Amino acid sequence: MQLALSAEDQKFREEMRTFFTTEVSEDIRRAVIEGRELTKEQIVESQQTLNKAGLAVPHWPTEWGGQDWSDLQRHIWNEEMQRAGVPTPLAFNASMIGPVIAQFGSQEIKERFLPKTANLDIWWSQGFSEPDAGSDLASLRTTAVKDGDDWIVNGQKTWTTLGQHGDWIFTLVRTDPDVKKQAGISMLLIDMTSPGLTVRPIELIDGGHEVNEVWFEDVRVPADNLVGELNSGWTIAKFLLGNERVGVAPVGTTKRILARAKSLAGERASEPLLAARIAELENDLLALELTALRVVAHSSDGEPHPASSVLKLRGTELQQAVSELMVDLAGPASIASGAGADSALEEWTHHTTPTYLNLRKASIYGGSNEIQRQIIARTILGL
Ligand SMILES: Cc1cc2nc3c(=O)[nH]c(=O)nc-3n(C[C@H](O)[C@H](O)[C@H](O)COP(=O)(O)OP(=O)(O)OC[C@H]3O[C@@H](n4cnc5c(N)ncnc54)[C@H](O)[C@@H]3O)c2cc1C
Repeated sequence: MQLALSAEDQKFREEMRTFFTTEVSEDIRRAVIEGRELTKEQIVESQQTLNKAGLAVPHWPTEWGGQDWSDLQRHIWNEEMQRAGVPTPLAFNASMIGPVIAQFGSQEIKERFLPKTANLDIWWSQGFSEPDAGSDLASLRTTAVKDGDDWIVNGQKTWTTLGQHGDWIFTLVRTDPDVKKQAGISMLLIDMTSPGLTVRPIELIDGGHEVNEVWFEDVRVPADNLVGELNSGWTIAKFLLGNERVGVAPVGTTKRILARAKSLAGERASEPLLAARIAELENDLLALELTALRVVAHSSDGEPHPASSVLKLRGTELQQAVSELMVDLAGPASIASGAGADSALEEWTHHTTPTYLNLRKASIYGGSNEIQRQIIARTILGL
C-alpha cells in the first residue's frame, strides 16, 4: 500500500527501515525471512537490540520505555519491523503482561518487572488456558488459597507457548469459588523455578516443541505477586486478550511472505489462475491493513477495541491462505519436509508443509475464530 505519508512520517519510515536493516543481526533476519526457527538466544538478542534504541515497547507509557508516537507511527514501526524480518518483541512480554502491569500493577510491581520485561531479561509465559477452560476461560479451576502471607497454587495450565523458556508465568487463578465465576478470578505472577511447578512438553502436528503443560502442586507464591485488586482478574484478562488479538494479526509479515511467494513463483506468477490468486490475496491484505490502521492498537480504558476481533479473524485467515499458497507453489516438493541439506530440492520448499500445519493454530489461539465471530456479532453488528 502506498499511504500518502506526510514528510515527517516518511522520514520516520526511512529511520525505522534503516535501523531494522542495519542494526539487527542479518543472520537473525535471514532466518526469519527463510522461515527457519529462531533460538531463544536470537530472540533475546534481537529484542535487546530494539530495547537499547527505545524500539521494543513503544506502545507502553513513556515513563516505562514507551514512545510518544502517533498511531500511524506505531503502525509504520510494526510494518517496517516485520518487512525487514526482525522478530517482533516477545508478545508475552511486550503486548501482554507489560501493558497489564503498567495499567494495573502497584508501583513496586512496575519497578520490579517492567524494565526486565521490556529488555527480555525475564521471559514470560501465559498461564490462562486449562484443559476444560479455553474458549470458556472463566471456568478455570486452578486455585490459589491464602496461607499466611503466601498463596498456595494447585492446578494445571495447558498450551503454554514456549513455556520451556519461561522464567515467570502470569497466571489466572480462582481465588473465590463461591461467587459468579468471572468474579472469583485473580492474576498472580509466578516464578517458574518455584518448587512444585512442572513444565511438560506437548508435541505438535509439525513435530515441533512449541507448547507445554504447566502443573502446579502446592506452589507457594508471595502475596505481593498479585496484580491489581483481588478478584479483578477477569477485567485484567479482557484487557490483555484485546491486546493479544491485535498482536496475532501480523499484516507486515504476511505481506512479506506473499511478496516472497510471488518472487519464488518466477514466471509462473503471470499464469492467469495464479496471478488472480495472488492479486486477490494482495487486495485482501490491503483491506486488512486499512482495518489495522482504524484499530486503536492498544486499548487504554481496560476494554478491548471491538475491531481487534476483525483484525484477528481476517489476519489469521490470510496468514493461513498465504501458507497454503506456498505449499501449492512448492508442489510435490512440499511433502519433503524431512529432506536434508544434501537434497536437490530448493531449501524453501522443505518448510512449506510444516509451516502450513503449524499455522492451523492461528485460528485457535488468542480466542478461536468462532469466538471472534461471536464478539463481532455482539459488539459490532449488535446481533
Ligand atoms: C499453538 C497454541 C498456542 C497456545 N498458547 C497459549 C498460551 O501460551 N497460553 C494460554 O493460556 N493459552 C494458549 N493457547 C490456548 C488457546 O487460547 C485455546 O486453545 C483457545 O482459547 C481455544 O480453547 P480450547 O483449545 O480449549 O478449545 P475449546 O474452547 O474446547 O474449543 C473447541 C472448538 O469449539 C469451538 N467453540 C468453543 N466454544 C464455542 C462457542 N461458544 N461458540 C462456537 N464455537 C465454539 C472453538 O472455536 C473450537 O473450534 C494456545 C493454543 C494453541 C493451539
